Amino acid sequence: LNPPQKPGATRTTAEWQQTDSAHYLHPFTDSAALARKGARIITRADDIYIWDSEGQKILDAMSGLWCVNVGYGRQELIEAATRQLQTLPFYNSFFNTATPPAIELAELLAEITPPQFQHVFFGGSGSESNDTVVRLVRRYWDLQGQPERKVIISRKNAYHGSTMAGASLGGMSEMHQQGGLPIPDIVHIEQPFWFALGRDERSERLSREEFGRRAASWLEDKIQEIGPGRVAAFIGEPVQGAGGVIVPPSTYWPEIQRICDRHGILLVSDEVITGFGRTGQWFGCETMGTKPDLMTFAKGVTSGYIPLGGVMVGERVAKALANGGEFAHGYTYSGHPVACAVAVANIRLIQREGLVERVREDTGPYLAQRYAELAGHSLVGEAQTCGLMGALQLVRDKTSGAPFPAELAVGMMCRAHCFREGLIMRAVGDRMIIAPPLSMTRAQMDEMLALIRRCLDLTLAELQQKGAF
Ligand code: PMP
Repeated sequence: LNPPQKPGATRTTAEWQQTDSAHYLHPFTDSAALARKGARIITRADDIYIWDSEGQKILDAMSGLWCVNVGYGRQELIEAATRQLQTLPFYNSFFNTATPPAIELAELLAEITPPQFQHVFFGGSGSESNDTVVRLVRRYWDLQGQPERKVIISRKNAYHGSTMAGASLGGMSEMHQQGGLPIPDIVHIEQPFWFALGRDERSERLSREEFGRRAASWLEDKIQEIGPGRVAAFIGEPVQGAGGVIVPPSTYWPEIQRICDRHGILLVSDEVITGFGRTGQWFGCETMGTKPDLMTFAKGVTSGYIPLGGVMVGERVAKALANGGEFAHGYTYSGHPVACAVAVANIRLIQREGLVERVREDTGPYLAQRYAELAGHSLVGEAQTCGLMGALQLVRDKTSGAPFPAELAVGMMCRAHCFREGLIMRAVGDRMIIAPPLSMTRAQMDEMLALIRRCLDLTLAELQQKGAF
């Protein structure tokens, strides 16, 4: 029998992997397949880089999981957490109590979010925040005397989290299949994914703008099908993230807003990824030109240093809640003081370094320009960016946009090259996506773009060698 290791003691990679597969169930993972390969063990990070247990340095073009917006190793955030842990590591916000960091963060969020948002409800993650949305939306319509308004409309290939309500709001069919989802009164319309749907023969090869209006009209169709008096809300990510960084045509969101207004239904913007500067504005709804009633956030609020999420509650819903008596909902960690203290430090840092403006005026346009060049690569059928999010659709035929056969798993092939070359780029099918830290410099962007091009070239070479290109 091996004696148990002391916590924190250094082990070899093989030892970490063995213990990992013996006890640790990873999210969204085929455990048996992982056990055969062994997990990659990430041991430390600094700036935009992470290191694994073998000492390999890797450029993290995904900001962890879309969250480390200010980069790793920021002393301000570490000190804010330490100070708060020493002063008051926990107290709840039930039973008529509150803590200074939670109040301070609520005030700061009211300042940096669009003006309709003067109130916030805190949770611990994006999934929890979207669960709160379902509760809030239904509570709102009950208080309006319209309890029959229960249906929330979302989109296929949306991602809104992994809890029962989050996964139901999401439009991932593999998730729905596991667990008998969606829960009742959540329905989905088709996504505004021009490359996959708009350029199709059957849709008469619509221009992006025409397709954007067409995709929005599917919301109107769905409302008519259900009956406008039964529809409570529409929810969407300004730019679909986990679905593949799908940037909708510019005509899409304004039309969605008009349809919601026409029927008086609540508009919910899921800003878990697009919040806190990712799109070049503080929030994605500002980039897309919508005025949501509710807005969920998580990830970038603390740059992922500690879990925190929440829902910004617009005046329309806030007013109803204020006169509605007790809202029977809340989490132990709603307004966790350490998480809130880190969030305040993180937002102040983003403000002080002008990171939102940097993305809007400098690094975002630069990424767009460099991605337009990458669009010329033989493997790339479409290159899209929005702020510091980017997508490259890998195709067998650039002209027709014809995809590779699914068995080739070209996205995974490309991702494997990225790992070997020291780059984290994620594959969603054959769509390669990035969301690098907003703190990135131009020189670091050049380094990232050179790595991306090298990995595309290596993927192309492997495909040619296999006779598949
Ligand atoms: N909404 C969106 C748009 C997301 O991208 C995610 C996570 N990637 C979530 C919700 C769920 O957040 P969490 O994993 O913190 O529960």
